[in-house]
Formats: sequence, structure tokens, C-alpha cells
Amino acid sequence: MTVTSTDSCRTTCPYCGVGCGVLAQGGTTPSVAGDPAHPANAGRLCVKGANLHETTGHGGRLLAPKVAGRRVSWPDALTATSEAIRQAVAEHGPGSVAFYLSGQLLTEDYYVANKLAKGFIGTPHVDTNSRLCMSSAVAAHKRAFGADAVPGCYDDLELADLLVLVGSNAAWNHPVLYQRMKAAARDGRRVVVIDPRRTATSELADLHLSLRPGTDTVLFNGLLVWLADHQGVDQDYLSRHCDGYELALAAARDAAPDLGSVARQCDLAEAEVETFYRWFLETPRTVTGFSQGANQSVAGTDKGNAIINCHLATGRVGRPGASPFSLTGQPNAMGGREVGGLANTLAAHMDYQSEADKALVTEFWGSRQLADGPGLKAVDMFDAIHRGEIKVLWVMATNPAVSLPDTVRVREALKRCPTVIVSDCMADTDTTAYADILLPATGWGEKDGTVTNSERRISRQRGFLPPAGEARPDWWIISAVARQLGYGKAFDYQAPADVFREHAALSAFGNDGQRVFNLAGLATLGDDAYDTLAPIQWPVLDTAAGIVTGTPRLFADGVFCHPDGRARLVPIRTVLPVSQPDAQRPLVVNTGRVRDQWHTMTRTAKSARLLQHRAEPFIDVHPHDLQRFGVADQGLAVLENRGQRYIGRVRRAEGQRPGEVFVPIHWNQCYTGAGLASALTERITDPFSGQPESKYGLAALRPF
Ligand code: SF4
Repeated sequence: MTVTSTDSCRTTCPYCGVGCGVLAQGGTTPSVAGDPAHPANAGRLCVKGANLHETTGHGGRLLAPKVAGRRVSWPDALTATSEAIRQAVAEHGPGSVAFYLSGQLLTEDYYVANKLAKGFIGTPHVDTNSRLCMSSAVAAHKRAFGADAVPGCYDDLELADLLVLVGSNAAWNHPVLYQRMKAAARDGRRVVVIDPRRTATSELADLHLSLRPGTDTVLFNGLLVWLADHQGVDQDYLSRHCDGYELALAAARDAAPDLGSVARQCDLAEAEVETFYRWFLETPRTVTGFSQGANQSVAGTDKGNAIINCHLATGRVGRPGASPFSLTGQPNAMGGREVGGLANTLAAHMDYQSEADKALVTEFWGSRQLADGPGLKAVDMFDAIHRGEIKVLWVMATNPAVSLPDTVRVREALKRCPTVIVSDCMADTDTTAYADILLPATGWGEKDGTVTNSERRISRQRGFLPPAGEARPDWWIISAVARQLGYGKAFDYQAPADVFREHAALSAFGNDGQRVFNLAGLATLGDDAYDTLAPIQWPVLDTAAGIVTGTPRLFADGVFCHPDGRARLVPIRTVLPVSQPDAQRPLVVNTGRVRDQWHTMTRTAKSARLLQHRAEPFIDVHPHDLQRFGVADQGLAVLENRGQRYIGRVRRAEGQRPGEVFVPIHWNQCYTGAGLASALTERITDPFSGQPESKYGLAALRPF
């Protein structure tokens, strides 16, 4: 059925950071179409978005609250939840309670969860699956710019004469944005893809650099040296707007002194490295997009800063067609960052490190005991649960039993935790199996609120279907628990608009322009204006004339968010993956998404159409390794890592580097029992961001 804009609900796709606008229609046969008026997609949808209607409906839904496996009323479920928290705090202190949130939550849900945990229970242990997605980019932004702010916008990816994509298979993971990049092809525009694998995105590349995994910092340090040695550095921009150039250049010379050294370390040909460097040097309009291939690394933050260093050195930040650009994975990872969903941040992009920020948040919320953070980041949080230090864990809208590295230990931790509360729209996930208390949450099509995409654009997600069974919005569930805990006055929300106004007001509270995240122009939105809010990019300031405007680009004036207004180049030394292949585990394992599935498949697997693209777990193997390990194309094989197994269908893949395999992250025990990709990766994290090294594991391969 074709849906027209006149009879449809205008909402946003929940599957990736592109944040496409959707026109949806409810009723007995829900249907969807791309929203021509949404700036992110102008009517386009990828196959996941186009089949959204197939993933609505009651099949597999969690329809009623449960405590200890028995169906209970909402009042009983809320009492059980609040009593578990109250008891843990009374006996073990606020730090014995942890929240594990998700980039699938709406900003309003995220805000209320963060406020309850950090502001009222007083625990700093609030983290999110966004830790696995883009926390390295967050840390890199903060080091370079003084704030976690993406300087550019999607238009820049089209305006760029040189588009560099680092660790990004955008064709599969940001499909509509990839369509935009592809449509921008023109004479004189070039695309460089930097990725160990040859992927669908490589088809767009004029140059594909299939570098050795983990050597991205070497490549970009080498670029900084090349720019310095070929009059490619904008000394005027550096002297007026940046600090740290000399130290960064010295570190770069140490790590990547010349082309030969870079080529050897990255396992590339000198000529192709030189071509990339020459194109970067001679193309003022350059955008470098980086994604999970850079972020999910023991050196993820350094990779981001090595890229940003080159953009600062050339003055290419926040200008049309010239910027570094972090491609966010999840639909609302950015919204979670806004409300302080990460363990090391406070609400509205404020910081624990600042006493002034803590005082502002305390005053605004009327907190009795603001958490004395930072709290435990995802991997450390589950370690603390494993050690018995966390007594109550509340998981919302995510499936850590599948997605976190070293899943055996994560499952042990969930089993050991005295009380596991899970709010989810789905009934049977690998994580709900460990829940003592199950709280049914509304799903896409039923929820109402906002999300923020990769270009800082806030869009409304609107409900057009009735809630399934007894499902309730997450903000409602959290607020109800808060009221039972005695914090009623601070959680007296009647609708998501109430939460959004408060979130916007906090961003403007005591904000004299030093904090870039500012929604002053939205702090007094009426209910009708919230309902009809058009997509808008933050910061959203209220001008003197009362005109509310968004902000497509940041830092074009060279004024950054460090207290002195200057950006920082960061010295980057080479940090390679901790373990190298050996006789027991001779293969490097890379993990990632496939085009038509989302995360742990709890929703996308409901669509038969989406399962057609890749119907089962697989292992992409280079032809050389088929022979080496005696496995057959299309046969079943086992990857083994310290006793953990992943079974998949072998696919001959010329695009793999020899000695490296690729496996998808999606399939879980509920669907296959064939093992998890995350069992093949270790609990190794970036020291700055805490992001796990999910792009690099080690395993042995044999026929099944
Ligand atoms: Fe949804 Fe992303 Fe596809 Fe757009 S590109 S339709 S946001 S999954």
C-alpha cells in the first residue's frame, strides 16, 4: 500500500544513525514509506526501513509484567522493582545499583533513566550499549574540540571533493547515507575507503586501502607528516585556533617517519599510500567519515584523534564539504550522549570533572544526592556484577548477553546478580532469560518522543499503533518506579513533551554559551509545537527575534569548547591489537553487521523478507585460507576461541585479507544455538573510551 503524507504519521526509522524520516500508517495492515520532507533521507528508505511494518505486531512481544517468571499486575511489578532498588541501596549503598541503557531508547526515556539513577538513587553506574558503538568518537571529540560535538552535517558528505571513509561499510550500515554519497558522484570527486576488507562500500572507492587491522593511526600519523613536509599545513589556522601541533607532529614522525615505514606497517603499497596523501593534500573540500571500524578498537580514541589532527592541521573543520565526521551506529546514540547516558558524563553534555557542572545539575534537578561519578563503563560494569558488587541491574532495550564481548562471562555475571530487571518490548531474548523482573515496554510504532541522528538532527518518533498488551513507555515505567521510591515531585511527567521541555531547559540552564549543547529554543515548546516539531539540528538557539534556528555546522569560526576556545591536536603513538595470531588461534576475526539485520535480530528476524539476504550465520574466508584450514566454500565450519565456538556457513571471500575472517554479530543463541560472534572477542577496551575491541579477535578454524 502506498502511504501519502496526508493520511500518515510522520515518524523516524529506529534502525540506524542515519535517522530517516518515515511516513507510517497503522490499522490492521501497517505500512511505511520514506518521508520526502525529512532532510536525512528525502523519501528514501533502505530495505530495513522499508520493511518496518513487518516487524510490528504482537508476535514475540512481552505483553505483561512478570516477577520470578509469573505474570503480575503493573502495581506489583513496580513494587517489586522499587523494593529491590530500595533494599540494595539500604544494605549496600547506591553504588550497588546499575543501569544498562540503549541507543534504542528515545531521548525522553534516556533522560528519565539517567535522572533517576544519577540524580536520585545516587548511583553513577549508568552506561549504555552506545559504549560499544561510538564512545571512542566521543572521547576523541572531547580531547580535540573540548566537547562531544560532530562539526559537520550530511550535506558535507555530498559537497566533499574527497570523501574518505575509515572503518565504515556505509553501504550496509548507513544505507541511505551511502545512497546520498553515491548520488554525489561527479567529475573531480574522489572516494577513498580505508578498511581491511573489501566491502560493498569499496565499490564506491577510487582507492581502497586494505590496511593491516589496527594500523589506522600509523596511516594518519603518516599523513600528518606528509602534509607538514609538502606545505600542506595551514599554519595561520593552527596559530589562531589550535594548540599541540608541534607535539603531535613529533609523535607522528616517531610513529610514521616516511612513506616506506607507513607502507610496511600498514601492509600497503607505497604508491597507494602516496596517492591517498596527495589527494588529501590537494583537496580542500575533504570529509573523513569514520565509524565502528575505527571506534571498536583498543586504540579507537587515538584513531579518531589521528584523523581529527589532519583536519585541524589543514583547517578543515566545520566548513562546507570539509570536516571530520563520526558516523554513529544507533538511531539514538547521539540522544543518549545528550542526556548523559554514558557512565563518564552528566546530563546535557556536562561533566563530572567540573564542580560547576555538578552544582548546576544538582540545583536544576533538586537532587538529594547526585552520584559522585564517573561510574563503571559497560565492560567494567559487568565485571563488577560478576564480582558480586552490583546487587540490582536494570537493563533497558538491549541484549548484553549477546552483544558484549566474552559473553560467557557476561552470562555468568547475569546469573550471579541477585536482581536483574529487564525492560524490553520482546519476550524471549538471551538477556530476558536471566531476568527476575520483566517489564513490557512499548515498541517502535507505539512509542512517542525524539531521537538524534549522526548529524545532530533531532527528529520526532511518533506512535501510530496502540501499545501491545500491557506495554508502557519506558519514561512512564521509570517515572512510576521513581514515584514509588519517594521521588514523586521530580518525576511527575504526564507526557514525553514534559520530559523533553525539561531536558531542553537543563541544556540552557546556566549556559552562557560555553556549552555547545544548548536547546534553549526548544525549552518552552507547547504540546502542539512538540507534536509537530520538524527535524532540527542542535544547538537550537532562540534568537532575539524569537526565531528558533538549528545549526548545520559547528566550529567554522575556529572557536572551540575548551576553556580557552582553542582546539587541541593530540600526540598519537602506535598502539596495536594486544594479541597477535599464534599456533592456537591463527586467524584474526573481524565482526560487523549485515545489510538487512539489526543488532541481535530480536526484531528484524520477524521479517521473512529481511532474512532472505543472509539467512544464517556465516564466515567469510579468503580462498587461501580455505585451503590452509581445509574448509569448503558453502560448507559448515567452526571458529574456536579458548573453548568458545561459533559455527557458520563458509563463504569464499576474495575481499578478505589472507589470515583474517569476518563474521556477523547478529545471530544469537535464541535463534541458532550456533555460538556468538562476541564469544570470539576479548574484554579488551580502549583506555580512554572504554570501548571494546570488537573488530579484532583471534580464533582457529576447522570444518564442522
Ligand atoms: Fe532506517 Fe538507517 Fe535504513 Fe534509514 S538507512 S531506513 S535510518 S536503517
